[in-house]
Amino acid sequence: MFTIENLLYSIFLPLNNPRAGLRVGRLYADLQKSQWYDHRALEQLQNAKVKCLMEYARNNVPFYKDYNAWEGKTDTTFRETLATYPILKKEDIRANSLHMHTITGMPRACIVATTGGTTGKPIEVWHSRKNRALVDAATWRGRSWVGIKPWTRGVNVQSFGRGSWYGRLRVRLTNKWIMDVFGQTYAEKLQSAKELLRISPKYLEGFVSETLALGDACYASGVQIDRVLTTGEMLYQHNRDEIKRLYGAEVSVYYGCNEIGAMAFECEHGSKHITDEHVIVEVVDENGVPQWEKPGRILLTDLDNYLTPFIRYEVGDIGILTRSSCPCGRELTLLKDLEGRTQDFIINASGDKLSSLFFAGRFKDMKLIHRIQLVQRSLNEIDLLYEGSSEVAESELEEIISEIHNRLGPEMQVSIKQVGQLIYTGRGKCRLIINL
Ligand SMILES: [Zn+2]
Repeated sequence: MFTIENLLYSIFLPLNNPRAGLRVGRLYADLQKSQWYDHRALEQLQNAKVKCLMEYARNNVPFYKDYNAWEGKTDTTFRETLATYPILKKEDIRANSLHMHTITGMPRACIVATTGGTTGKPIEVWHSRKNRALVDAATWRGRSWVGIKPWTRGVNVQSFGRGSWYGRLRVRLTNKWIMDVFGQTYAEKLQSAKELLRISPKYLEGFVSETLALGDACYASGVQIDRVLTTGEMLYQHNRDEIKRLYGAEVSVYYGCNEIGAMAFECEHGSKHITDEHVIVEVVDENGVPQWEKPGRILLTDLDNYLTPFIRYEVGDIGILTRSSCPCGRELTLLKDLEGRTQDFIINASGDKLSSLFFAGRFKDMKLIHRIQLVQRSLNEIDLLYEGSSEVAESELEEIISEIHNRLGPEMQVSIKQVGQLIYTGRGKCRLIINL
């Protein structure tokens, strides 16, 4: 369907990401239509796509050659059939890295992503241009739900450097700015806030920790932004409230990963809709059994990657799927909540665990909660790092330590360390718990 808006999208989307090519505008228009499909139609689409993918993987990707899930099954739903398939773990991919790709070899126009660098040896993932274009189109559909369009004035504060000159030119042509605020001192942050006042963006995008780190300076400088878009890290309720207070902004989160991309976006009603056309999300319990309405491990099947297929990939996140509906009218599956990463917990010698979600919930009213980090060194040693002044912190730190002792036993040694800056990953993420 021709509309002026679709025309603008077909101009601005390739400008945002030339590697996605000109087809991205058409893919976007298709997704605008399919978001209003009813549940049945979406399931039919997923069913057809996952069957094709698995058939292809069995015949062309050595790792999957013995998998034969659909043979002899006619009366099961695709979710039931998929559940008979093994779970793909990061270790499996690392151990079989040469057998995860299609035997047809890497095509000429292939985009190679590496991922998993923060949790071990990186994994190489091949993406076709068409697949990346679809991810782009889905990303911008998700943003359109909260009023962000490819030409909307926006600032990205993720730390990926300033890029090449033509990259910067492209960024400016699409009304975007990139600010690298990673590791800035407070004086530098005030400069960045001044820059934000000058640019006056409609939205700001970045990791939760960077957005928070810049927030005090923005608050002090009177920066007001309509919407803050966060990704890459858990956005706990207290983070959301704090970002809202600091920027006077509505806050949205989107969920993606390098391996697959564009997985879920918050709509205008704040529900996280999964990009059903591109990915099947399952949530399984500790025995690997799919479940709804309860927290469990998230498994992802990328319906569009035939070069490095990901089928039931355990991404390392915990979430809840729900069958409830959203007032927006879209019947795309809902991710009720994300509850953190499976490895983000501290543990004692008897195996008792405390997750990052526990700390975020238990201490949500603390001033200090944005400024602490728990680093587990061994089964009975934790460093409690914090940024900020010790007078304010003392009682809150004591409270955290006594809770750790209550839950994990008095043998757990907790050393308080005041630091200039918490530990960030190479990509600028800051996790509440680091388990060494
Ligand atoms: Zn909705």
